[in-house]
Amino acid sequence: MRTLLRRSALAAAAALAPALAVPADAPPPMIGFTADGARAQAVLEARFDQGLDAREMRAWLERLSSEPNHIGAPHDRANAEFMLAQFRAWGWDAQIETFSVLYPTPKRVSLEMVAPRHVRATLHEPPIAGDRSSAKTAGALPPYNVYGADGDVTGELVYVNYGMPDDYRELARHNVSVKGRIVIARYGAGWRGLKPKLAYEHGAIGCLIYSDPRDDGYGAADTYPAGAGRPAEGLQRGSVADMPIYSGDPLTPGIGATRDAPRLPLSEAKTLLKIPVLPISYQDARPLLEALGGPRAPAGWRGGLPITYHLGAGPARVHLAIQSDWSQKEIYDVVARLAGSVYPDQWVLRGNHHDGWVFGADDPLSGNVALMAEMKAIGALAATGWRPKRTLVYASWDGEEAGLLGSTEWVETHAAELAEKAVAYVNSDSNTRGFLEAGGSHSLQRLVNQVSAGVTDPLQPASVLARARAVAIVGGSRGSEHTAEERRIARELLDGGDLPLDPLGSGSDFTPFLQHAGIASLNLGFGGLQPGGVYHSIYDSFDHYVKVEDGDLHYGVALAEVAGHVMLRLADADLVPLRTQDFAAAVGHYVDELDQLVVHARDEAEANHRLLDERVYELAASVVDPVGPPARQPAVPFLNLAPLHNAATTLAASARAFDAAFAATTAEPARLTPARAAAVNAALARAERALLGEPGLPGRPWYRHMIYAPGLYTGYGAKTLPAVREAIEERHFDEVPAAVTMTAAAIDGYRHALDAATAALR
Ligand SMILES: [Zn+2]
Repeated sequence: MRTLLRRSALAAAAALAPALAVPADAPPPMIGFTADGARAQAVLEARFDQGLDAREMRAWLERLSSEPNHIGAPHDRANAEFMLAQFRAWGWDAQIETFSVLYPTPKRVSLEMVAPRHVRATLHEPPIAGDRSSAKTAGALPPYNVYGADGDVTGELVYVNYGMPDDYRELARHNVSVKGRIVIARYGAGWRGLKPKLAYEHGAIGCLIYSDPRDDGYGAADTYPAGAGRPAEGLQRGSVADMPIYSGDPLTPGIGATRDAPRLPLSEAKTLLKIPVLPISYQDARPLLEALGGPRAPAGWRGGLPITYHLGAGPARVHLAIQSDWSQKEIYDVVARLAGSVYPDQWVLRGNHHDGWVFGADDPLSGNVALMAEMKAIGALAATGWRPKRTLVYASWDGEEAGLLGSTEWVETHAAELAEKAVAYVNSDSNTRGFLEAGGSHSLQRLVNQVSAGVTDPLQPASVLARARAVAIVGGSRGSEHTAEERRIARELLDGGDLPLDPLGSGSDFTPFLQHAGIASLNLGFGGLQPGGVYHSIYDSFDHYVKVEDGDLHYGVALAEVAGHVMLRLADADLVPLRTQDFAAAVGHYVDELDQLVVHARDEAEANHRLLDERVYELAASVVDPVGPPARQPAVPFLNLAPLHNAATTLAASARAFDAAFAATTAEPARLTPARAAAVNAALARAERALLGEPGLPGRPWYRHMIYAPGLYTGYGAKTLPAVREAIEERHFDEVPAAVTMTAAAIDGYRHALDAATAALR
């Protein structure tokens, strides 16, 4: 049901925008549809929207987040069974698929400072007035980082800023080593699992990760319950699996974690950490940081605590002990199908996870209730006799928080069938008030722009696309400065270009679909207005969500409209709705970026050599904060990226030809014979698979997509053309030629698939 607010917004939009009035019989622009098909689809989508009910979504959110719902919690399973019953009642063919995964849970966790004075960390999030579930934490796990090692270690403390590679280079200039010591890193700047991994690689024996108030506490917003900032005792739980190597169950890389699957011994699981690691609040971190001596921390390392930040090592010494139960636990994916009437063997997939760290109202249930609303509305359409042309597969995944377990194990189990049948995967996760954020395969960029142009923003009389474009043009929604890349995008938007999709790295369930299985994917959600100050804490609750985030679930309805319309168009389009010039343009842009990366690396190395040779660092050294010179960088050779430029250029020509033939065919329905449509659709459904390279990315063959990957040393952040880009960034210049060959071959493979489809269209 639509709310009064949304109706009045639509009325206002009509009043303010008479110029947008079009003849009633003009078809809306819909890629992949004939004019008649587009008209029928618009009617279908309007009926779908009538089936969305914000109050019902709010009630589901309250129910699903009423108790802790991590892996192994009774409420996690109860939520899966509740959804199963709902999906069946709505007319879907649904079941629960169960996997058995390694999921260690803490039995004993303690942290104390033993010198220069004794302080015991509380490791506790107390109840907050007005947040009902914060007082009902029976059954919740103690705060921890899953897949850290067990251990009982004591050592001097060292502050390592965000604990990323550059931070260790800086630490070396201050002559501070972490060898045999325990590091304290702040959250932010990269995947949390990289912090203990890099600490271990530099010789540390333990790792603490704290939430600095500058990043998501009072430095960013009023703290909860007044606002969205993290309270002093708030803790960020989270996985520290080495996910840039592979996602999913650490013991079953590449295969589904069914009960009888062969499993690695713990000692051979590459994604398990080697040292103990623990998340702490800034209240617990403050006495530790305050007790550090040694050099003053560099300016960019200073957080928001009212102390002078020092690096150590010591005199603070800490004792960290963690002991876990390393047993297998069951996870429950709820998977539902609605068979297609024309192309039952082409699957359009949609997912969101249902497990949280504690109550998980925002992460993930705010997105999960949008997925449920879509399913109910589609079920109501099916009850009237309508069927999608392609098969719809909707899934609520379990075990995402530990490392994308439910989605990865499902993809690995059904790999052969997905390679044959999957057309696209549409993901969502957390959702809140704000602006549409869309990432994914660039062949789907036009579809996302067209869909979001047709969805009205809940708060302003404009489309969600118009608002997302506006914020990209004027600057970050939090008032941040534009980067050079953002300025480029703003210029292109002002010139009328489409809102670009962000390339996908990792951080949610799209990873196994896109980067392992080669399925064109999208990640959709609203947000960007507030810091995630309750992220992965007990305060990510229903009460918090309705007070601070999206109380009326209006943006939940907006997400269901955007994702639902994308799903319905993917399912019903006469031709799979890809515009390949957008993909070709993105590839061309990424290749150009590699040229700039090489030039920049060479300039930087030359400057580094000159400053070292002319002893400039020594002359500039401060007697107050002595800093040594940086390490000497390897010289950057001239690299041959020509095969990538050739591949990108020929791809652009093929994409233009394909898109023209595609548009001509949908414009002239007589040409759209069933045989031709079937041949073209079969080719398009599988086109993204051509971008998988064998044997996969260097050192991490589970990741096979040659265009998009999470960074080996960024984690969530995307690396485009990752084999080549990372070889340059890591200064592994000897690996560049093979990476260029493999990447160019994947681009050429995609071009051949397009050329075959173009021939079929003609
Ligand atoms: Zn999530």
